[in-house]
Amino acid sequence: MTDSEVDGGQEHAASDYDVVIVGAGFAGVYALHRLRALGLRVRVFEAGSDVGGTWFWNRYPGARCDVDSVEYSFSFSDELQQEWNWPERYSAQGDILRYIQHVADRFDLRRDIQTNTRVLSAILDEEAGLWAVETSDGNSCTARFCIMATGNLSLPRLPDFAGLKDFEGKWYHTGLWPEEPVDFTGLRVGVIGTGSSGIQIIPLIAQEARELFVFQRTPNFSVPARNHPLAAEDLQAHKSRYGYWREQAQDTPFGIAGHAAPTKNALDDSEEVRNAVYEAKWRKGGSVSFLYSYKDLLTDKAANDTAADFVRRKIRETVKDPATAELLTPRDYPIGARRLCLDTGYYETYNRPNVTLVDVKSDPIETLTPTGLRTEGAEYPLDAIVFATGFDAITGALMDIDIRGREAMPLREKWANGPRTYLGLMTTGFPNFFIVTGPGSPSVKANMVCAIEQHVNWITGCIGMLAGERLGLIEPEPGAEDDWVEHVNETADATLYPLAESWYTGSNVPGKARVFMPYVGGFNRYREICDDVTRDGYRGFVVCGAEPDSEPAPAAALIR
Ligand code: NAP
Repeated sequence: MTDSEVDGGQEHAASDYDVVIVGAGFAGVYALHRLRALGLRVRVFEAGSDVGGTWFWNRYPGARCDVDSVEYSFSFSDELQQEWNWPERYSAQGDILRYIQHVADRFDLRRDIQTNTRVLSAILDEEAGLWAVETSDGNSCTARFCIMATGNLSLPRLPDFAGLKDFEGKWYHTGLWPEEPVDFTGLRVGVIGTGSSGIQIIPLIAQEARELFVFQRTPNFSVPARNHPLAAEDLQAHKSRYGYWREQAQDTPFGIAGHAAPTKNALDDSEEVRNAVYEAKWRKGGSVSFLYSYKDLLTDKAANDTAADFVRRKIRETVKDPATAELLTPRDYPIGARRLCLDTGYYETYNRPNVTLVDVKSDPIETLTPTGLRTEGAEYPLDAIVFATGFDAITGALMDIDIRGREAMPLREKWANGPRTYLGLMTTGFPNFFIVTGPGSPSVKANMVCAIEQHVNWITGCIGMLAGERLGLIEPEPGAEDDWVEHVNETADATLYPLAESWYTGSNVPGKARVFMPYVGGFNRYREICDDVTRDGYRGFVVCGAEPDSEPAPAAALIR
């Protein structure tokens, strides 16, 4: 054990590290880079065998980002963004993984990242003002600060199907895909789930499999990706104004530059003009672009219906069999209220003779069998099954760890009725415990890399401030947390999002509290709120002096 260097190591109990970071995806890697630059002793624990997070685990065929590569990348180093060349408009999983690995090497981060190590618990020792962290390798360590860089979609969910252990074929989850390639050639394959992952993998499996059965419970809206190679001159043109584009992104609701903000409501235009607007977006490709056609698509149901009807028409025009087209057509929720999917040839796939869509809403899956799958009404012989069944999103990876704050309060208990945070960054009763893109922040409703950088920058500033001011513990005031939770809920309730059952609300996980978890007030607005809070002396936060027995006081009172 060595003394903490944060404040010269005089008043605090000695700790193994100043900061423990859980996870080495985009968030953990960048947090390590920033905090190490403060001169802190940082340790990152990563469950996977390499860095990469989401892009390490989701290596299924067709896995690709939905955000343009030039946007879905770090902005913190101009050298990095100038030297890296993205091959395609939307990067494939392998390219993004190579990029994160390059970042880890380029900034010499690997020496502080311990892979193949899962964090099992993080328990606050109130007296010492330290977090005790226990890991799957049987070791434990202490740190003053704990940063959860655990990701929003990192706890895969396998529905509780009977008979899974008896299934004699191979089965896979998209979020836990094996490193070695999987060959479906000549096989009868079943894919369960038609969210973003299913919609990406289905067209590719269809090209290999002898027969593909897609088991769909709820149809999703999808718009074309129109992915293409990035021409060297276009990439160079973007790089020559990279600083400008990054600044632009900061001022958008979703952290992505290059999309002119809509100026009209959908019903301001005639039907003919509106359809021409949607058609142009459809041809250009991209989900952000499509939902940004009009100002009110996510707040006004009548406006939303015009966009939803447009996509419904496209499905009917693309899918030749009218009954299959009807099954693929979402009717029960507004477009965009569940994550709008991006695809390459998804609807066209159902015109192939070897592909069958099975409606498991009207005929639910009853059990897996040794040779396949049985619904209430039919039997499907299968050689392989792909679960594209999603994640226990946003809170899942946090709740998976035994986290205990003041008075040994488990986070699982505090959040039993839904997550409660201030700004999605911290939660009362868990001092010096930060969450990157936590519930109550824009997170999945923004460009994740942009959201991550903003959060890590804020956390780094906060930890740096504590060190500079010789302060000990920071956490939100209960009132600030209550007000923020109310604001997050009110903001969501003013939109169409809560009208859909989705992983945004936790409704995909039986027994999970139904709360709309992301902040949908816009990344730009949120960033300004965070900046204001900091400028106001960390408004809404309380801090203690460095002495272990010092009483908490409003942060502003203690910061010079
Ligand atoms: P998802 O959107 O939650 O989809 C899961 C699918 O599995 C749904 O169709 C769901 O049906 C189905 N399902 C779950 N349990 C089932 C059961 N017991 N029986 C039958 N069907 C069942 O998960 P995902 O596709 O992995 O995507 C999650 C998120 O990850 C996306 O929304 C996106 O944010 C991100 N992602 C992004 C990309 C990208 O950038 N291109 C790619 C993949 C994932 P119900 O809808 O009826 O529940």
